[in-house]
Amino acid sequence: MKTYRIATVPGDGIGKEVVPAGRRVLEVLAGSESSFTFEFENFDWGGDYFRQHGEMMPESGLNALRGKDAILFGSAGDPHIPDHITLWGLRLKICQGLDQYANVRPTRILPGIDGPLKRCKDKDLNWVIVRENTEGEYSGVGGRVHQGHPIEVATDLSLMTRVGVERIQRFAFRLAQSRPRKLLTVITKSNAQRHAMVMWDEIASQISKEFPDVTWDRELVDAATARMVNRPASLDTIVATNLHADILSDLAAALAGSLGIAPTANINPERLYPSMFEPIHGSAFDIMGKGLANPVGTFWSVVMLLEHLGETDAAERVMKAVEHVTANPSLHTRDLGGMATTAQVTEAVCARIAATADGYI
Ligand code: NAD
Ligand code: MN
Repeated sequence: MKTYRIATVPGDGIGKEVVPAGRRVLEVLAGSESSFTFEFENFDWGGDYFRQHGEMMPESGLNALRGKDAILFGSAGDPHIPDHITLWGLRLKICQGLDQYANVRPTRILPGIDGPLKRCKDKDLNWVIVRENTEGEYSGVGGRVHQGHPIEVATDLSLMTRVGVERIQRFAFRLAQSRPRKLLTVITKSNAQRHAMVMWDEIASQISKEFPDVTWDRELVDAATARMVNRPASLDTIVATNLHADILSDLAAALAGSLGIAPTANINPERLYPSMFEPIHGSAFDIMGKGLANPVGTFWSVVMLLEHLGETDAAERVMKAVEHVTANPSLHTRDLGGMATTAQVTEAVCARIAATADGYI
């Protein structure tokens, strides 16, 4: 029997509600599996840790994560601490520290969910957005001088390296190749940003030659927002820079029904370090502590975690259980227009996993 070592990092806000729910799903799953089990270690990093220790996670934190098979993450963000401190001190520290350079965000409309696009069929929206996750607009290079004076200057430098762009484009082409439509859209802004984004475009053309069976096109990021709304079926796999993909994937999540449903994988494709799985939403201060958080984004992230571990049958079983539950409107949380609580949705998914155990053991 295999034992997977999983780190859980709930972080802040509703992260503390949805990560335990995700862990519970994994525990119920393991209870009905004979070939693998999980060994969890929880890390209480985040805003509370910051108030006690002056940092979001300890210096030794990355070392503690290195020996794990995967990380299940909640969210970083505290109402009383500036967002750039919580984000850089925890989530970006892990993503960059463990070189999780490919951020993968699937979107589709799950059964029973009423998306806002009235002119398209549910099946028209089936995308995977690949976000560059270690550089670009989030390189952290920049500074502020003469603070508070009229001559104050502030810069954030978007930094793109050939290695960084090549590896994310190659990852995206490979992912597009693995999907039935073999279709990739490269998001750009090379009309306005005439250095790094032009290199981004050139590298896309160069990498495309390695994938002759993948059909690809280029779209400016602003035009891409309209295309997502008006012609969703014309898109399949999408690759974009760190900031562009951040924005497009929130739009994608909203078009699929709610930010509360959407998952993310932060992948180190070479598997030199563990990869990290998390819902795309943040700490949701407005609903934290009320039992209103939709745990589906975390459950779908758990599905991606299982796929990454190679447990594809188990992953499919969890996804089917999630879809079984979303198909029932009385099990929708408030963000989907329903009345169900985090706990009710979690128990329903766990019950379905347990009920479908026969035949899998
Ligand atoms: P948010 O995702 O936390 O919330 C946006 C809106 O969506 C809120 O109205 C919220 O109630 C709702 N929502 C989000 N997730 C939901 C869920 N699971 N179920 C039901 N409703 C849900 O974004 P925000 O308000 O811009 O940010 C709040 C904090 O979270 C900030 O500190 C921000 O920096 C942080 N944040 C962290 C991450 C991360 O760690 N990955 C991502 C985004 C934002
Ligand atoms: Mn975001």
